[in-house]
Amino acid sequence: MNTTTVSDLFRRSYGRKPDGVFSAPGRVNLIGEHTDYNGGLVLPFAIDARAHLAAGRADSGAIRIMSAQKPGEFSQVHLDDVRPGSPAVAGWPGYLLGAIWSLQQTGRPIESVDLVLDSQIPAGAGLSSSAAVECATVLAVSALSGYSMDPLTIARIAQRAENDFVGVPCGPMDQTASAACAEGSVLLFDTRSGSTENISFDPAAHDLTVLVVDTQVAHSLADGEYGKRRTSCELAAEILGVTQLREVTVDDLPAALSKLPDDELRRRLRHVVTENDRVESTVELLRAGRITDIGPLLTASHASLRDDYDVSCAELDAAVDTALTAGALGARMTGGGFGGSVIALVPTDLTDHVGAAVVSAFAGHGFRPPVLRRVSPAQGARREN
Ligand code: ADP
Ligand code: MG
Repeated sequence: MNTTTVSDLFRRSYGRKPDGVFSAPGRVNLIGEHTDYNGGLVLPFAIDARAHLAAGRADSGAIRIMSAQKPGEFSQVHLDDVRPGSPAVAGWPGYLLGAIWSLQQTGRPIESVDLVLDSQIPAGAGLSSSAAVECATVLAVSALSGYSMDPLTIARIAQRAENDFVGVPCGPMDQTASAACAEGSVLLFDTRSGSTENISFDPAAHDLTVLVVDTQVAHSLADGEYGKRRTSCELAAEILGVTQLREVTVDDLPAALSKLPDDELRRRLRHVVTENDRVESTVELLRAGRITDIGPLLTASHASLRDDYDVSCAELDAAVDTALTAGALGARMTGGGFGGSVIALVPTDLTDHVGAAVVSAFAGHGFRPPVLRRVSPAQGARREN
């Protein structure tokens, strides 16, 4: 669906035209995984699959929400009931209501509003449909309320919605990517300084394609493993006497490893430190126009996530291994792990072959058939009309 169809759905649902249509994209992270809560570096790009949100001012005293992907599940919540933990905000509408609540927490008064969501981003595939919904909502409701807001502010408000309203302790990467990415670019986001820089990333110009393999294995960040990784990182930082693991460089790594008491903490540290280094190396290659050379860094990132950070799974590993054997230049899991998606950097003329190889490998293993998508770097959250 696009701008016109979400407007039509709004008109059919609420009997008038929306005051605006807004959109925000999903994202994949090219490299820099599990670094965003360690003050580290990430390198995501927004993808050409978006959540569209039609919005209209109302004077009902309530927020009314519909989603094209949840037919029949209309949600109407009085403004006074838009707070974390309220029974009125359970389920998927919480992503939109949380964004509105988080906006209110910045001291900006919010009026009632009618919303229709329509998203092309598959939910739970590791492509960050949740951040797109949150960013689109922050942008829509702030614009309708007359607040103009820069992308990083939108991202911070959206992240707070996910952390403190939905209750998922994610880092800042997803919302920042959805809000601040530029078309044809990856976003170098330094989560320690908060600085962002768009760096040209144009696979098509090099006859390359980024293929996303959605393993169809539901990742659930709320199920505890993500929280355990964060806790391990905090513990390692405490033992090493640093505020965040970002402060440990590859040069410091041997000495830092020798100070940690057990193998698990040592492996967690090694992943975070080497991953930050791989992001820097990737950026150097991209700046030099050497996109075809980044493959080994992607693949090394996957090995580190699999062996040191223990966040991969059989399906992710099979997708990576098969893609590489079939001719991908590099491949890695993207997102939190335990399922979700793999990205592979593939010579465009081999894309069908790589995709078919992964599908057949999954069948051979008895896994659910994966869903394949080609993605290209797209624009962050924007007003459509
Ligand atoms: P991801 O962000 O990786 O897609 P999450 O579990 O963080 O996965 O977020 C997915 C959740 O976001 C869904 O379960 C649903 O609650 C909400 N969501 C995403 N897209 C839509 C949509 N189009 N309509 C309603 N809810 C949605
Ligand atoms: Mg999410």
